[in-house]
Amino acid sequence: MVGQAFLPASNQTGDRQECLPHQQRRPERTGINHIFDHIVVGQGIAGTTLAWCLRRRGLRVLVVDRNRRDGASHVAAGLVTPVTGKRLAKSWRWGELFPAARDFYRSVERDTGTSLFHERPSLRLFASEAERSEYLRRREMLGELVRDATNIPGCFAAPFGGLEMPHAARLDVPAYLDASREQFRAAGGFLAADLDPTRDVELRADGVRLPRLGVEARGLVFCRGFSVSDPWFGRVRFNAAKGEILTVRIPGLREERVVHRGVWLAPVGRELYRCGATYAWDDLNNTPTAAGRAEIVSRLRELLRVPFEVLDHSAAVRPVVDAGYPVLGRHPDRPQLAYFNGLGSKGSLLAPFFAEQLAAHLCGERDVEPALDVRRFFAP
Ligand SMILES: Cc1cc2nc3c(=O)[nH]c(=O)nc-3n(C[C@H](O)[C@H](O)[C@H](O)COP(=O)(O)OP(=O)(O)OC[C@H]3O[C@@H](n4cnc5c(N)ncnc54)[C@H](O)[C@@H]3O)c2cc1C
Repeated sequence: MVGQAFLPASNQTGDRQECLPHQQRRPERTGINHIFDHIVVGQGIAGTTLAWCLRRRGLRVLVVDRNRRDGASHVAAGLVTPVTGKRLAKSWRWGELFPAARDFYRSVERDTGTSLFHERPSLRLFASEAERSEYLRRREMLGELVRDATNIPGCFAAPFGGLEMPHAARLDVPAYLDASREQFRAAGGFLAADLDPTRDVELRADGVRLPRLGVEARGLVFCRGFSVSDPWFGRVRFNAAKGEILTVRIPGLREERVVHRGVWLAPVGRELYRCGATYAWDDLNNTPTAAGRAEIVSRLRELLRVPFEVLDHSAAVRPVVDAGYPVLGRHPDRPQLAYFNGLGSKGSLLAPFFAEQLAAHLCGERDVEPALDVRRFFAP
């Protein structure tokens, strides 16, 4: 069902005009009322970020989302962490992805007047003596990404000490999605609808039509996160992982850093913290489970020496493809269709860099990186 009226494409604005915009017209007796350059299906982190990048190139963009608010982006904590895992590995391509993310979210903050991207040190407490030894071994190699933690409050169990990551950040994902949606909507570029890719998408020689929604465009980009049904990109093989997350109140705790040890605890204000997350590769749905809750609660008890209260519990599926690398590009046989997915467990960090790459590709300025090109799934 179409649930939200929208304005004509001509009301949209953009501050650059590097691609030839689709000529606006209103075909007679076709049922098509609005013409766009690109339709983006899905308003999670991927679709939202791509829509910004396309709009900033002066293109008219329609974002279509079913507005259920239960995808991975609506559950994500938005953590951006430079050093992760038991082996204290530097996050993939941190040196280029983090500046791109910071610049991009800062620009959206300016455009929307909303505070979204919070750069704050993050604290990691060692779970064992072995982890501490690993840190001492790798400290020099990790350079400015880490330093010895000196300020560990007594409410945390930290018998092995910890490290601090001065350049960590947290994206307020709901605020990012909401503020972006309002901008897109105000410019006539958002439509709440559940698109059935099989029945709603009509391919034409020079673009796509969605007759039920009365719109047409030169191209359509699927940014649907973890999704099982897709007539064109069904060859992409997900290695998706369900994740559960709690919101807890910790009376008296005033920690502003994200704290990691077995779980992570991310402050969201007024003694509230988000805490997670589990990983499960079966049962891929958005339903919270008693086992997921018990796992997080048990790990949080190991971390905290003070009581806490669970206020909320949610779950979603991370769109992991292969080992967690993004997937982007045009369909090999249907160039009017494109794909942006596979943001895995790092959507906040990955989306700005790769959305910009895809936007440039859609404007004919560059190829996408071959290792990330969706066309690799179509190789014989
Ligand atoms: C528990 C958990 C914790 C996480 N924590 C972090 C974190 O701390 N940091 C981080 O960077 N990442 C985190 N992630 C990962 C992050 O959530 C994902 O990388 C990111 O949300 C993926 O975004 P997406 O836009 O690709 O997919 P999604 O968020 O799933 O968005 C897809 C959108 O498309 C819409 N859609 C799908 N099909 C249709 C259709 N047919 N018609 C209309 N609309 C449609 C959906 O409604 C949805 O809004 C976490 C994930 C989970 C599950």
